[in-house]
Amino acid sequence: MKKIAIITGGSRGIGAATAELAAKAGFDVCINYLSNHERAAKVVEACKSYGVNAIAVAGDVASAADVAVLFETCDRELGPVTFLVNNAGIIGRASKVEDLSADVLHQTFAVNFFGAVYCAQEAIKRMSTNHGGAGGTIVNVSSVAATTGSPGEYVHYAASKAAIDGFTIGLAREIGREGIRVNSVQAGTADTEIHALTGNPDRPAMAADKSSLGRVATAQEIGEAIMWLGSEKSSYATGAVLRVGGGL
Ligand code: NAP
Repeated sequence: MKKIAIITGGSRGIGAATAELAAKAGFDVCINYLSNHERAAKVVEACKSYGVNAIAVAGDVASAADVAVLFETCDRELGPVTFLVNNAGIIGRASKVEDLSADVLHQTFAVNFFGAVYCAQEAIKRMSTNHGGAGGTIVNVSSVAATTGSPGEYVHYAASKAAIDGFTIGLAREIGREGIRVNSVQAGTADTEIHALTGNPDRPAMAADKSSLGRVATAQEIGEAIMWLGSEKSSYATGAVLRVGGGL
C-alpha cells in the first residue's frame, strides 16, 4: 500500500518536524498550513530531499470547506491519505477564564477541536474498510495541558486538548474494526514559535524548570512519538493517549 501522510499545521514547529520524519520513513507527504507559504515551500523541499513526493495546501482547518479541498487535492496529486496527523493548533492569548473573550474561546475550539474532527471525517471516508479503503492511522496532537488545565493562562486551550483526547478514545472505539487506529500524543512544552506568536516568548524557559528533564522538548522529539503511533510498530495501540511530557 502506498503510504501517504496529511499533516495539518505542517509549515512550522512540530508539524514540520513530523513531515520530515514521515518523508524519511517513506511517506508521500501533504502538509497543510494557514498562510506561511514560504515556510511551507521549505518543508516541501526538505521532504522531497528524501526522494518522496510532497505538496503543501493552504487552508484553515476550522473551515470544513477548506478541509474538503485539502483532502481532494491530496487525492488528486498524491493519492488517498493513509496517515493523518491532526497537528494544527493555536493557544490564544493568555488570560484568566473570567477575562477570556468569546472570540478567543470560539477560535481555539474551532481550530484545535472542530478542525481535527473535520479532518478525521475526511480521512475516514478514504481509510475505512466500510468505504472500500485499506485502513489507516490518525494521530491527534494533544497537550499535557489536557490534564494540568493551565490555570491562570490557557484553561480554554487545555479544555480544547482534553476534548481532543476524549474524541481520540471515542473515535478509536468507533472505527477500530474499520481498519483505522486513532491515538493522541500529549506533548509537553516544545521549543517552537507558538509561544512567541501568542505573546509569551518566555514560556519555554519557564516550562524547562518544571520538567523532570530540566528542559523543553524539541519538535523532533514530539514528532518521533507521532511517527511511532503512525507506524506499524504500534499496531496494537488504539485509543491511547501517549504522554510525552518530560515527566510533567
Ligand atoms: P506552531 O509552531 O505555532 O505551528 C503552528 C502550525 O499550525 C503552523 O504550520 C501554522 O500555519 C498552522 N496553523 C495555525 N492555525 C491554523 C489553521 N487555522 N489552519 C491550518 N493550519 C493552521 O505550533 P507548534 O508549537 O508546532 O504546535 C503544533 C501542535 O502541537 C498544536 O496542536 C499545539 O497545540 C501542540 N502542542 C504544542 C506544544 C508546544 O509547546 N509547542 C505543546 C503541547 C502541544 P502557518 O505557518 O501558515 O501559520
